[in-house]
Parts: sequence; structure tokens; C-alpha cells
Amino acid sequence: MSFENISENLRVVNEKIDAALAKTGRSRESLTLIGVTKTIDLDRIRELVRLGVTQLGENRVQELLQKHGQEGFDNVSWHMIGQLQTNKVRQVVGKVSLIHSVDSLKLAQEIDKESKKRGIVSDILIEVNIAKEETKGGVLPELAKLLVKDALELANINIKGLMTVAPYVENPRMNEKYFEKMNELLVDMNENIVHNNSMVILSMGMTNDYEIAIEKGSTIVRLGSAIFGERYKNT
Ligand SMILES: *Cc1c(COP(=O)(O)O)cnc(C)c1O
Repeated sequence: MSFENISENLRVVNEKIDAALAKTGRSRESLTLIGVTKTIDLDRIRELVRLGVTQLGENRVQELLQKHGQEGFDNVSWHMIGQLQTNKVRQVVGKVSLIHSVDSLKLAQEIDKESKKRGIVSDILIEVNIAKEETKGGVLPELAKLLVKDALELANINIKGLMTVAPYVENPRMNEKYFEKMNELLVDMNENIVHNNSMVILSMGMTNDYEIAIEKGSTIVRLGSAIFGERYKNT
């Protein structure tokens, strides 16, 4: 994979993002693109940053920490998008701009505790297992409201919205109903639990289904293979 591919891939991605946004009359500012850099070497990540993508996502704590302080990433905001164990919370709090994968009160409490120690408030998303897949992380949709309600009591976390990893499907239209459900869940929470419409983020849509996700109200898409190529899927 050469550097030209990254810039060409990014050009195609941006075109598709624009087209999906146009369908519902949304502006480009209403959507954030996160480049998912897991398994990608530093030179290629630096190329992506040079091309203007400064929101980067990692799904493993170890890899995130290795890349975090490297040269050329001064303007990068890191996102923790993978499953997070409570015993690793200490290592990521203060280093990431958003933790996408909070799916239990225990984890929310741990992030709150570590944030308090550092005198900061950490932005988080609640991950929802919207298709109720056994192998996936995330709180079940019917328990999500309760989790948000409980987590709202914690002063050193700020619940910014919801995140999901939709099923891998041949036809991305199959995920339309799940993205709709996520949107409904967010609206419901804003109307009935948080009251000030403070949950503004819907992190949903990956390489396979981001255009549909955007049509259904996604505000953050997380793209890996669309940018860096299929090769990286194996790892
Ligand atoms: C790997 C990963 C992505 C990106 O997946 P692609 O299909 O390569 O775009 C997005 N979100 C999470 C949580 C991931 O682990």
C-alpha cells in the first residue's frame, strides 16, 4: 500500500460522505471522520494526519499508548473505540478526547474516579449492542437508558452520546433498522433523561456501512479499511 493510495482512498471517502450528507441536507460540519489506525504503521498514520485527518481511533490500550506520544501527532485527538477493561482505565484517562466504548456502570465509575484524581471531566459515549450479538460489547438496548441514568450521577464524566458497532452484513441496507433504532434511542434519552439535549453524538458507521449510517443520523464515522485498504482487515 503506497501513500498515493491513502490520499486517493480518502478522496473517495470524502466524496461518499458528501453524497450521503446531501441526501438529508446536512452540512459537512455535522460529521466527524475518525481514521481507525489499528495495526497501521506510524508512517502511514502520519500521511493521513498530513492529509488533514486528525481524529484517530484505536481499539487496544497498548497500541494507543505506543502511538500516542509519537512525533507528528501534536494536533491529533485520540479516540478509544475498543473494549476497555477497568484495570486499564488509568492508562487512557487524560490521553484520549473521547472514550466510545462504555458499556457498564462499573466502567463508567472507574473512568469517573480516575478523572476526579486528575481534576478533569472525561467525555464518554455509551456503547449499545443494538443487534444483540453475543460476541459484541455494548449494553443491550433495553438496558441503555438505565445505564445512562445511573452514569449521569457521576460528576467527572460527561455522556456525549451513543456508539455502536453494527453487524457485518453483505448488504449494508440490512443495518438501516439498527441505525434508526440508535437514533431513536438518542432522541428518547435527550427528551426523557438528560433534558438539555446534551447527548449530541452518534458514533456509528464503519467501512461497510458508513453511507447508510450517515443517512440515519450518524455524527461520527470510524473508518479503517476504506482509508488504509483491505489488507489490514486480517489483523
Ligand atoms: C476496526 C474498527 C473500526 C473500523 O473498521 P473498518 O471496517 O475497517 O472501517 C471501527 N470501529 C471499531 C470499534 C473498530 O474496532
